[in-house]
Amino acid sequence: MAQNVLAFSEDRGLLIQLLGKGKELADSLGGELNVLLVGSNISDSGELAQYGSKKTLVADDPGFEHFSVEAYKEAFLKAVEASDPRIILIGATKRGKELAARVAAALDTGCMTECLSLEVDEEGNLVGERLTYAGSTIATEVSRRAPHIATIPSRAFETPEPGEGVGEIVTLDVSIPEPRVKVVERRDKVKGDMGLEGAPIIVSAGRGFKAKEDLKLLEELAGVLEAKVGCSRPISADLGWMEDWIGISGRKVSPKFYLACGISGTIQHVAGIRDSQIIVSINEDANANIHEISDYSLVGDLYTVLPALIKALKEKIG
Ligand SMILES: Cc1cc2nc3c(=O)[nH]c(=O)nc-3n(C[C@H](O)[C@H](O)[C@H](O)COP(=O)(O)OP(=O)(O)OC[C@H]3O[C@@H](n4cnc5c(N)ncnc54)[C@H](O)[C@@H]3O)c2cc1C
Repeated sequence: MAQNVLAFSEDRGLLIQLLGKGKELADSLGGELNVLLVGSNISDSGELAQYGSKKTLVADDPGFEHFSVEAYKEAFLKAVEASDPRIILIGATKRGKELAARVAAALDTGCMTECLSLEVDEEGNLVGERLTYAGSTIATEVSRRAPHIATIPSRAFETPEPGEGVGEIVTLDVSIPEPRVKVVERRDKVKGDMGLEGAPIIVSAGRGFKAKEDLKLLEELAGVLEAKVGCSRPISADLGWMEDWIGISGRKVSPKFYLACGISGTIQHVAGIRDSQIIVSINEDANANIHEISDYSLVGDLYTVLPALIKALKEKIG
């Protein structure tokens, strides 16, 4: 087996982060970094060499226009054949995680999920760190069987700067299997899709809000900050005031700025906001857990703090 690294994600931003880490791992192994692109009418396969990829393996077919785990797995196995990787990095998106499990099973190897750090140990095994127990502990795992497969969430590794790299484009000849699952209909998401995952600013409501109408306060603040509005689970699942909630059983978000209003900060909620860059809390209870994980805490009644904040921001931003 060669000492190469193969990276894949259907999310281009995440893929570039994987290439940054992948290059580091390939260099430490003395192998090369390769990347897999799967899709229909792929036009930008040349760009990835700038991030250190030697071979861009391209599976381009109308049959790949929509994600199908069976079809994508076939493309992946062809890419493994063509690039002989020791390490496989897959973006830990919903699709990536589904695919990683199938690829690992097909290659009869293991899969470490949602790794936040990765390195190669002295024996050439891949060592990864991942959060467990809703993010309250860090587990260190060692993959002992190659090819080592790891899935990586967004922003675990930095986006590298593009360089001068020159790479080769290799077209993969994949025969797409007859799908065992037939897609009957595709519909765009309308309700429930608040775009929370990609939002740079989120203001979020918890049970500190006494009535549904009071959410207008938060919506007004969101308007001023150009933010998305989220909430804790009881606001959605119990009270039905909003569609989606944030947390371990809901949406996982990673904004630059997360404002938690009247949210106590239970472990289930915090698991969904841990990747936020700055967390600010407004809670009248000085001992609320949310303050523990906040960068800035405002201890006070949200019904007093929010109008004052909106007024101050309007004066500042205009
Ligand atoms: C299996 C499982 C999965 C779960 N998944 C999730 C999940 O994904 N996401 C999630 O959010 N929860 C989840 N939960 C629920 C979680 O355990 C908590 O019950 C929930 O997060 C609490 O929501 P909250 O903070 O809004 O409410 P509370 O815990 O009731 O907190 C309300 C807070 O508001 C403050 N407050 C009250 N009035 C005011 C005021 N006027 N001004 C300022 N502050 C005020 C209080 O001091 C308190 O801290 C899950 C639970 C289980 C069992």
